[in-house]
Amino acid sequence: MVFRVLRPDSVSVWKNEEILNRFSKYRGIIDGTQVARYLIAKTVKCEYNSNDTIENLEKLLKEKSLEYNDLLKKDVEEIKYRKTVPNSYVNLAETLANNYLKNCIFCERQCEVNRIDGKKGFCLISKDSYVSSAFLHMGEEPHLVPSGTIFFQGCNFGCVFCQNYDISQAWKGKRDIDDIAQKVNTKQLAAIAEKLVDRGAININYVGGDPIPNIHTIVGSLIFQQSNICQLWNSNFFLTEKALSLIIDFIDFWLPDFKYGNNECAKKYSGIDNYFDVVARNHKRVHDEGSGEICIRHLVMPNHIECCSKPILDYVAKELPKAVMNIMTQYRPQWKAFNYDEINRRPTSQEMREVKSYADKLGILYEPVS
Ligand code: SF4
Repeated sequence: MVFRVLRPDSVSVWKNEEILNRFSKYRGIIDGTQVARYLIAKTVKCEYNSNDTIENLEKLLKEKSLEYNDLLKKDVEEIKYRKTVPNSYVNLAETLANNYLKNCIFCERQCEVNRIDGKKGFCLISKDSYVSSAFLHMGEEPHLVPSGTIFFQGCNFGCVFCQNYDISQAWKGKRDIDDIAQKVNTKQLAAIAEKLVDRGAININYVGGDPIPNIHTIVGSLIFQQSNICQLWNSNFFLTEKALSLIIDFIDFWLPDFKYGNNECAKKYSGIDNYFDVVARNHKRVHDEGSGEICIRHLVMPNHIECCSKPILDYVAKELPKAVMNIMTQYRPQWKAFNYDEINRRPTSQEMREVKSYADKLGILYEPVS
């Protein structure tokens, strides 16, 4: 048995009725009264030929998703006792992910490089996934700790203010990835996750860098994971719709960033096209079609209250009523942000007050997790 002193707010957060209500499935998995979504997906039988066309595999994935979502309507007591099958919906998703890897379209950069052949796109990750660290994170939002956090090397974004630039960007072109991170296959990643569960994690938190370039390994690891543990996606959320279809039914809890309230700021600071359109679309989809249990991280940036913070809050209030927000104060100039005068400082307390009072006005729930 592991005894650990928990942060007081990680206990008190669950006394908030609205948090309990919005995160009821997640809490149920922690308490053992609910079953993690990936375990349910592993009971959905799926016969297919792995050499079939991508179109046919995609069609089958859609059918299996419908079957799976019908299953979710059943009573949890009935679901609990279903048996895992050798060829399941999860195996199909892994097969399709490996197909996409030949012409990578995991994120909306859509590099279309053959990563199986060792080619690399913007993220500089080939077919192999690399874990830079994995540990029980005690600094995440109160409802998430202790979080079994797995940091992947590499990122599909190029944020000039990156707070994790050592594992996201600074190594690119300078250091061999094998010198700084551990190469993992699906079985090894599952073993890392299971070890974190044994040590007391209440979720498996895929982050980076970003987990998006590693979807194939993460989905593959679910075939080997066995614990009833919440699967948590902690990401910039710049996935394609096809990539999101590979994981939407397996992830219990979403922890996406919502950085910019328009496409122009994203282009300037992250080198990304169509940011708002893509990320808003993905938030809406997991809210409406996925587990719907979402904690959105918004890092308030100096001088970006009107163009970014307020449009994001407007969108959340209108389109994502079940979401909870973490309005984050910890922005500080990092990496290359010193070259941009307007973001070369921390947000002022006046700016933070303005964002929070705007969220209050819109009725957004943020205080218990911010
Ligand atoms: S994950 Fe994104 S950035 Fe990386 S190769 Fe694929 S499409 Fe390109």
